[in-house]
Amino acid sequence: MGLNGKIALVTGGAQGIGLAIAKRLAGDGAHVVLADIQLEAAEKSSEEIKSLGGLASAKRLDVTDLKEIQSVFDSISKEHKPVDILVNNAGITRDGLLVRMKESDWDAVLSTNLKGCFLCTQQATKQMMKQRSGSIVNIASIVGVMGNFGQANYSAAKAGLIGLTKTTAREVASRGVTANAVAPGFIDTEMTQKLDEKVRNAMLEQIPLGKFGSPEDVADSVAFLVSDQAKYITGQVININGGMLM
Ligand code: NAD
Repeated sequence: MGLNGKIALVTGGAQGIGLAIAKRLAGDGAHVVLADIQLEAAEKSSEEIKSLGGLASAKRLDVTDLKEIQSVFDSISKEHKPVDILVNNAGITRDGLLVRMKESDWDAVLSTNLKGCFLCTQQATKQMMKQRSGSIVNIASIVGVMGNFGQANYSAAKAGLIGLTKTTAREVASRGVTANAVAPGFIDTEMTQKLDEKVRNAMLEQIPLGKFGSPEDVADSVAFLVSDQAKYITGQVININGGMLM
């Protein structure tokens, strides 16, 4: 139970990869706050974690809204203590070919997937630098490195997240805070279940391990990065993609 006494905030924690991370960190002893734009779903997931014996609570959070972010960080500090672990996981897709992509779809994805992470990181690092400890993990993506048909907005946001992770790591290292990213490949969640059968099969052919990853595969790496075993690791990107990109 290496995370006993720690507070972990997981954005987009109501479902999918975020929920798997929340369950895993709660299993390791942290009190996990599931912060999601879908409050009811986050509450249900937090009840599920509690029924498994973990410590959890839910908050409504839209990562594009600075006021809401400030109020979530303030309320966690008052109710518990400042956040020790931040997992920037909230993300959306609005796919479309570059030539036809609507400006609103570009803005929505950049705003949630990149600016949201910047705003949450800014709040968290203020508290963590004061405490002289803390860890941040950003959920990037293989497409931030490779690019992907129909995902100009998403791949730009995820590539930006990698740059943001490295800059954060450099700026906070002297205060005992680490910042890393994981870059999942294709993971079986609602986000990828929306994909056309043909696209899913074409993706599978490119994965040497021959299957999509599970949310738990991502959660395992995040749990490692926030643990004491990873205290000398910062500014890194761990690829979790079944060998799709080497
Ligand atoms: P998902 O759609 O199942 O879950 C995303 C969660 O984020 C949802 O609970 C949603 O309500 C929440 N969310 C959306 N907008 C929000 C906002 N503005 N504020 C707060 N919460 C918000 O997706 P997932 O597959 O679990 O993806 C989680 C993360 O992993 C995303 O950042 C995604 O880009 C990344 N990722 C996923 C895959 C994959 O194959 N599924 C691969 C690489 C990276």
